Amino acid sequence: MSLSESHFDVIVVGGRPSGATLAARLAQGGLRVLLLDRATFPSLPAVSSPIIYACSMALLDEIGVSEADYARNTPKIRKLVSESRDYYRAIAALPEDRGRDYAYAIDRARFDYALWQHAANTHGVTAIEGFGVSDLLWDGARVIGVEGVQHGSRNVERFYAEMVVGADGRWSLVARKVGAPLYNVDDAPTTSLYYAYWRNVQPYDIGEPLAVAHSTLDGLAYLMMDSADGTTAVVCEGHAETIERFSQGAGAPEALYEALLQNAPRIWARLQGAERVTSVRGLKHTPNYYRQPFGDGWALVGDAVHHKDPIGGQGIYDALFSAKVLAEQYLAYKRGALDYESAMRGYKARLEEETLPVYRNTLAARANLAPSNAFQRLLGRYLVESPEVVEALARVPARMGDATQLMTTRTIVLSLARGVARDARRALTGELSPSAVPPLPIERAQGVRETSSYQQRLGCLGWMLALPAIVMFNGLAVLRRE
Ligand SMILES: Cc1cc2nc3c(=O)[nH]c(=O)nc-3n(C[C@H](O)[C@H](O)[C@H](O)COP(=O)(O)OP(=O)(O)OC[C@H]3O[C@@H](n4cnc5c(N)ncnc54)[C@H](O)[C@@H]3O)c2cc1C
Repeated sequence: MSLSESHFDVIVVGGRPSGATLAARLAQGGLRVLLLDRATFPSLPAVSSPIIYACSMALLDEIGVSEADYARNTPKIRKLVSESRDYYRAIAALPEDRGRDYAYAIDRARFDYALWQHAANTHGVTAIEGFGVSDLLWDGARVIGVEGVQHGSRNVERFYAEMVVGADGRWSLVARKVGAPLYNVDDAPTTSLYYAYWRNVQPYDIGEPLAVAHSTLDGLAYLMMDSADGTTAVVCEGHAETIERFSQGAGAPEALYEALLQNAPRIWARLQGAERVTSVRGLKHTPNYYRQPFGDGWALVGDAVHHKDPIGGQGIYDALFSAKVLAEQYLAYKRGALDYESAMRGYKARLEEETLPVYRNTLAARANLAPSNAFQRLLGRYLVESPEVVEALARVPARMGDATQLMTTRTIVLSLARGVARDARRALTGELSPSAVPPLPIERAQGVRETSSYQQRLGCLGWMLALPAIVMFNGLAVLRRE
C-alpha cells in the first residue's frame, strides 16, 4: 500500500514550533501522525527574529527536545536592558524559572530544524518535507484529509485522517479553507517592523550577552539581541505611519532600515564597524486576532489560531502551548474520557485563559509605541528607579507576571512621590540617578548624530519647577486611562 492510501489518526500541516511539537506529543500519546511542510529543513520561517524564555524551553523539555541542539553556539541572555533614549534605563535580571535564569535569541533555522528532526524521529510520526498542501478533502461538512504535491512533482497526492490540524502559520491555508471566523481582532494602530542580523556589533557597556530594548520616545522601538554564532539581531518596530515617514518613497527595505537605525544614535553607534550578514526582512501591518480553533474534523494551532504583534516576543511560547493543550484535549477524547465537542471546547477555553492576558499586554505595548510626552517620560524614569518595579517587569516576558496588574494607581502615585523626593535631593547634591544612561564613548559616537547626554543631571532643577504644571495637565489623563 502506498503512503498516500494510508489513513492516519491526525494530519498536521506545518512543521515548525506548533506543528512539530504537536505531532511529537500526539505520537507520544500513541497516535499515528502525518506531519507535512512545504519547506525543507533547515530553513527560516517567513519572518521571525526570536527570543525564547525559560517557559518555552520547559515545554520543549516535556517532550524531550534537546536544548543542546536548538541552542547550539547561542549565548545565554541573563539580563534585559530597557533604554529610553539617553534619558534613563533599567537593567533587569531574568527571574529563575524551573532551573533556568536565561533566555536565548535563537537562530530560528536551527531551532525549527531541531524541532522537525525531533518530531520526525518520534515513533508514530511520518514526516514529509517539501510537500505543499493545496486543498482539504471533505465528506459533506467534515474534513477527512488533504491533497497537495511534493516539490518537483506534478502528481497530486491525497492523505486521509480523522483530524487535520492547521499549524501553517498566520496565512493558514487550513483556516481559509474551513472558513474559521476571526474574533478579538485589533488592528489599529497597525505596526510594521524590519530586522537583520549583524556581526561585530560594539558590545554594550555591561559587557555580557543581552537583549537591549531601546525607545527613541518618538514612536520607534529597537531591539538588539545577542544571537547565535556571534551575531546580533537588530529590530526596529513602529506604528506603520511613523515607519512610513522614514521610507521617503524608497522601495528597497535596506534604505528604510538604515534610515530607521540612524534615527537612534545609541543603536547606530553600536553598529559602527559592524557588518550586516543577512538581508533586511520585515513585516508590514502585523495582524492581531484569534480564530475559531476547531470544527468538524479540523483544528488550528500556533499562529494559525492566534497571532499578535511580535513586540512582546511571545509567539513561540503560545505556539508551543497551543500544541500542548490541543494534544492533551484530543488524547483525552481518543481515550474516551471526553466527547469530541467537550474536548475541543476545553482546548479553546484553556488557550484563551493562557493567552488573553498576554494579548492585552501586547496590545498595550503596541499602543505605547506612540511618541511620549514630558510627563510620561518623567513617570517612566521614576518607575524604573524602583527596583521592585524593574524586578516585576522582568517577570512579564518570562510569563511569570502580568504588566496590566503592575501599573496600579498605587504604584504610579508612590513612584511619583518617591521620584519627586529623590529629584529634590539630587538637585541639591548633584548626584546622578542609578538609571542614568552613560554617554556614548567619543570614538563610537563619531559620525553619529548625538542627542543630549546626562539629561537627568541637567534636568533635575527644571523638573522641580515644571512638575506642578505637568502633573496638573497630564496626571489625570494617566489615571483615567488606567
Ligand atoms: C518579526 C517577528 C519577530 C518575532 N519574534 C518573536 C520572538 O522574539 N519570540 C517569539 O516567541 N515569537 C516571535 N515571533 C512569533 C513567532 O515567529 C511565531 O509565533 C511562530 O513562528 C509561530 O509558529 P507556528 O508553528 O505556528 O507557525 P510558523 O512558524 O509560521 O510555521 C508554519 C509552517 O507551515 C508551513 N506551511 C504553511 N502553509 C503550508 C502549506 N500549504 N503546506 C505545507 N506547509 C505549509 C510553512 O512552510 C511553515 O514551515 C516573531 C514573529 C515575527 C514576524
